[in-house]
Amino acid sequence: MEKLILTQDKIHTGNLILVNQACGFQRDSYGFPVPVLEDAPEILLNRNACALLTQLMSEIDGWRHIVPVSGWRSREEQQRIWDESMEENGPEFTRKFVAFPGHSEHQTGLAIDLGLRREHVDFIRPDFPYTGICQAFREKAPKYGFILRYPAGKESVTGIGHEPWHFRYVGAPHAEIITKHGLCLEEYIGFLKQFSFRDNPYLYADGSRVYSISYIKADKTLSPLVLPKDHPYTVSGNNTDGFILTEWRKQDAYQQQLRMA
Ligand SMILES: [Zn+2]
Repeated sequence: MEKLILTQDKIHTGNLILVNQACGFQRDSYGFPVPVLEDAPEILLNRNACALLTQLMSEIDGWRHIVPVSGWRSREEQQRIWDESMEENGPEFTRKFVAFPGHSEHQTGLAIDLGLRREHVDFIRPDFPYTGICQAFREKAPKYGFILRYPAGKESVTGIGHEPWHFRYVGAPHAEIITKHGLCLEEYIGFLKQFSFRDNPYLYADGSRVYSISYIKADKTLSPLVLPKDHPYTVSGNNTDGFILTEWRKQDAYQQQLRMA
């Protein structure tokens, strides 16, 4: 058995934190942002997310036609982008496409903007069409833990206009579930709240693993969770009121266990 202690401050860390107009980002970055590409050392991404992006890009030979446009940003940088956009594009455009300083996913290091490799790339709205190599990237992204964060039709939920170029790392298997069910991150975090730890976890099988996902409400008196040692898990805060625990087993082991039960 293993004891997992979830403290209040951990609500604001993890791959599943929700950062939007209502929930600001509480830290300077999450993980250790590293350069995405050797020839673009200024564009940084969370180390783990970066490793998966690299794998995805090598599977589709993506970097030949795609460039990273913007990755991790400090709060100050987000402020500068906001101020410049307000001046150049006005408030309506800025509120639609630029997150308020302190509330940008880019500050987490888990988000990346991508554009087609060409001479002039628009920094705020890079071209990333639903065809060719960009679409190939979009289709593979969930398998590597990335979601299209601001889809069309969800503007009233995300508070941000449709952004075909902005991808967010949430990890496996969450990206696949979110994409399969056509949810945005706000909806997924809300959806998970009905699946409580132990009694009623959400089960998801991807062919090789069975995942058990549950929500744990943060509580000042939270006692340590006791988890079995025989299978791996990850835990992430949701940045609002609790945690998401993701446990998994190999599919065969899970089936064997069901037979024995
Ligand atoms: Zn972005």
